[in-house]
Amino acid sequence: MTDAYTELVAELKRICLLGEAAGLLGWDEQVNLPPKSANRRAAQMSALSELIHRESTAPRLGDLLEALEAASTSLTPGQACVVREARRDYDRATKIPAEFVRRRSTAESEGYHAWTKARAADDFAAFAPYLEANLKLAREEAAFFGYEGAAAYDYWLDRFDPGLTGSFVEQTFAVLKRELKPIVDQILTSSVKPRTDIFRGFPVGQQEQFLRTVIGAIGFDFDRGRLDIAVHPFCAGNGGDIRMTTRYDADNPLDSLFSAIHETGHAMYEQGLPEEHIGTGLGTAVGMAVHESQSRIWENQVGRSRAFWQHWEPAYRAAFAEQLDGISSEELYLAINAVGLNPIRVDSDEVTYNLHIILRFELEQALFLNEISIPDLPTEWNRRAKEIIGLDVKTNREGVLQDVHWSGGAFGYFPSYTLGNILAAQFWFAAREALPGLDDDFACGETGRLLEWLRENIHRHGRLHSTRVLCRLVTGNDLDPAALISYLNERYLPLYADA
Ligand code: ZN
Repeated sequence: MTDAYTELVAELKRICLLGEAAGLLGWDEQVNLPPKSANRRAAQMSALSELIHRESTAPRLGDLLEALEAASTSLTPGQACVVREARRDYDRATKIPAEFVRRRSTAESEGYHAWTKARAADDFAAFAPYLEANLKLAREEAAFFGYEGAAAYDYWLDRFDPGLTGSFVEQTFAVLKRELKPIVDQILTSSVKPRTDIFRGFPVGQQEQFLRTVIGAIGFDFDRGRLDIAVHPFCAGNGGDIRMTTRYDADNPLDSLFSAIHETGHAMYEQGLPEEHIGTGLGTAVGMAVHESQSRIWENQVGRSRAFWQHWEPAYRAAFAEQLDGISSEELYLAINAVGLNPIRVDSDEVTYNLHIILRFELEQALFLNEISIPDLPTEWNRRAKEIIGLDVKTNREGVLQDVHWSGGAFGYFPSYTLGNILAAQFWFAAREALPGLDDDFACGETGRLLEWLRENIHRHGRLHSTRVLCRLVTGNDLDPAALISYLNERYLPLYADA
């Protein structure tokens, strides 16, 4: 049995290495690729992905899995995790016919191009047939795994966060929606108004220098990773070699800074997974929600906290002395924590952001339940944006056409952003209880104890536990929006209290 296990692990690690090479090609495409080399790159990536597909569907892998599953009682919990996750990947690679994979990838790329045009022209009708095709394919894919009809949405949620279902997310978001409303109302009607106009003309070179210092100080290991520039910030690779990107805008320095801290949170999770297990379930992140919790806890709970800025404000002022001249510490801190309604999800603050996600979740669920159809989407979007967020949506470009996700067939992905925010708040309270004096640490520029705690309690387990089990083990509670509500109340209500 140990022989079968050893062989399985060696195979998984080899397939992972091929995936890493493909990932580097993808990173290079976004960061370095000369414009006329795109076709060559597409051919390289397709040759490599064909090879990876062949290796991941090899009958030998199936035999090894069957042998190990038949002897599952002799496996340690760690080995059982490796086998379970390998089975999940193997089924995903083998149960979907090659013909379907080709159709889906064509539909996704056509959908993406149709979406970019439709968004520019503010023309939902031009995009609708492509979205319809993607939705149909999403249902078809779910059916290969036995998820029929309305249950198809559960397949997609489970794909990104194993074990989560539509009904669980629905209950969770219903509470959040109800509890967020009074917080948002109080902030919006407050006489305290953040000055968001102070962030103008921040030289890009100084921005880069400052944010590199910050992410190094919080624990990004530059000897096992890089930070480069790309149009859309992302984090790719694994703990062995992580590639992050950000972008700079002289008139929007907080966007670069906080998106870099955000990606650093993702990167430090990867860098905290046990390196000897990379390629297996024990060296893989739990799911998208836990991944997002790690980026959000650094971006928001730490990065936007008063204690953190107590330490970093002098360096920030030194870098941007002229720009911040005459701006008080309180004005700066309030601007860093500005809350306001924005029609665009990615430009929204951490309070109203969750309402954007709830809107998308409700629409996705209604589509999969056949309660609404694709042509209804713009009207439903606008109606619910008013009801849930309080927004009057003026154009489809600022409404239903704003996100890339559906154009590429990614349904069920949005909820993980807010589930990540919920988990971040739960982990935050658990860490604060376990580590008294954290704020004093931050005020001295020390974040090492928090990172160690995250490594010990979350990172090192890989996929040993599911999202909800991990949450219970770390916090003593199931995934529960109450912590996020408490955190937001604690952070924002004093800040926006009327004098
Ligand atoms: Zn993220």
